[in-house]
Amino acid sequence: MTSPTDDRLIAAFPGRPDADAAAGFFRRIGAAVEQIDPTPPLALVAAPALVAGRADMARLVTEAKTVTVAGWVDHRPVARPMPDGPEPAGAPEPFGRAAVVSFRSCATEWSKSRVTAEISGDLEPVFPYLNAVMPSAMYGPETRTLTYMDGFHLVTLHPRRVMIAKATDIVDAWLVLEGIRARAVSVWADRDRITPCLEPRSKAPALEIWKRLPRTNCGECGESTCLAFSVRVWMGEIGLQGCRPVFEGPLGYLREDLIATAAGRDGTGRARARSGRGGSGATSQASRRGLPRRRCRESRRSMV
Ligand code: SF4
Repeated sequence: MTSPTDDRLIAAFPGRPDADAAAGFFRRIGAAVEQIDPTPPLALVAAPALVAGRADMARLVTEAKTVTVAGWVDHRPVARPMPDGPEPAGAPEPFGRAAVVSFRSCATEWSKSRVTAEISGDLEPVFPYLNAVMPSAMYGPETRTLTYMDGFHLVTLHPRRVMIAKATDIVDAWLVLEGIRARAVSVWADRDRITPCLEPRSKAPALEIWKRLPRTNCGECGESTCLAFSVRVWMGEIGLQGCRPVFEGPLGYLREDLIATAAGRDGTGRARARSGRGGSGATSQASRRGLPRRRCRESRRSMV
């Protein structure tokens, strides 16, 4: 359900210095501003966010030239509480710290947000280990990405960048970011007990299915959005035929590409993501890293 807005905007910042400078600007112009401070457990992934009126936010962007604003969306009450406790301890590798560099409304669902964060670490070495312990993740050795669903959030990891779609608010995004950070650190610390998996999945990621849907969110499939439909197809819960505009209606021209994508093929019928046999990009990735080249089934059994 969409949360009601209060006609203010909420802005996110890459770091505390920019948030502090923006808060100072608002005070100087006499604007009413509310600050949302991350609690200590979120200290490595979040900086304060500010809530202000639309006109005042516009003044910040146009007049405070030295302040970097990651972006802003309609303000809504936060849906999830922030955790209590101390700052995360222990080795920061391989994630390091995160800085939110983009905060925008999702194109297809205005009430949700898309967040991009740059990180100070490098996630690429941990991808094969995350791939081994996350059976539903989509690992792309050639694109150097790992994509998966975290609840209803679509998460894409790049070596030094994290992208989160469908965050309900900035606190929700911080919580997802901290979850990613904690998982990467934990799996990396445990890597001696995990057989890395370099096998790309042959199943198309939900996002690729979604890209080939009409994206009208018409609801004829029984889902509220095309993205929700694509995720359920991706998880094997429902079939593509549920999209009636494509399979029974006027948008049949989308059918062939959609079926090929969901089956893990490109438009020519070739496997889009290789199974792991032969001289694939995954093999060369394994060679470069000096990692053993094993099938993922073996890796996952080793985790049991
Ligand atoms: S029926 Fe097709 S176009 Fe309509 S919401 Fe479902 S997936 Fe999207």
